Amino acid sequence: MEEEEGEEYLFKVVIIGDSAVGKSNLLSRYARNEFNINSKATIGVEFQTQCMDIDGKEVKAQIWDTAGQERFRAVTSAYYRGAFGALIVYDISRRTTFDSVERWLQELRTHSDTTVARMLVGNKCDLENIRDISVEEGKSLAEREGLFFMETSAFDSTNVKTAFEIVIREIYNNVS
Ligand code: GDP
Ligand code: MG
Repeated sequence: MEEEEGEEYLFKVVIIGDSAVGKSNLLSRYARNEFNINSKATIGVEFQTQCMDIDGKEVKAQIWDTAGQERFRAVTSAYYRGAFGALIVYDISRRTTFDSVERWLQELRTHSDTTVARMLVGNKCDLENIRDISVEEGKSLAEREGLFFMETSAFDSTNVKTAFEIVIREIYNNVS
């Protein structure tokens, strides 16, 4: 967190989870209202900055996306460094991505040295017809681990803004 004149906040938020769960599209939907059917690995941009107003204060979130290195299980400690919030994403139509959540949480714990506001995100909830993880399963994992929980769709925009804003608001509550 950086604070200037007691009125400006900048929080780093990271998005983690298996390859192809929709991390990059969640960020592009939130930051630019864009969705890509054939999204390639993120090129160039490491993060996007989004502003929101909380209690009349301008709060900026610097939201980091991986460059696709999660395919090689090689997300580095630099990625996590200084993060105050995290979205841990799985794909509701792919069981293996849900099974990986515990590993991502472990990695996050290993690399963080502060309280991190954490949201479990079941993405692709538009794919109801091929759902593999029930809402209840997601909820109970979140409760067990003390995480916020939300199902989202980067495709049709369901809950995307809400998911990011709950995390940002929680960070703000943690530090103010
Ligand atoms: P990442 O590897 O986690 O960054 O995943 P991407 O954002 O690159 O998305 C992987 C694939 O899933 C792409 O083909 C996206 O178009 C698709 N995708 C991402 N989010 C959604 C979603 O909410 N619904 C559906 N149906 N497809 C999605
Ligand atoms: Mg990506």
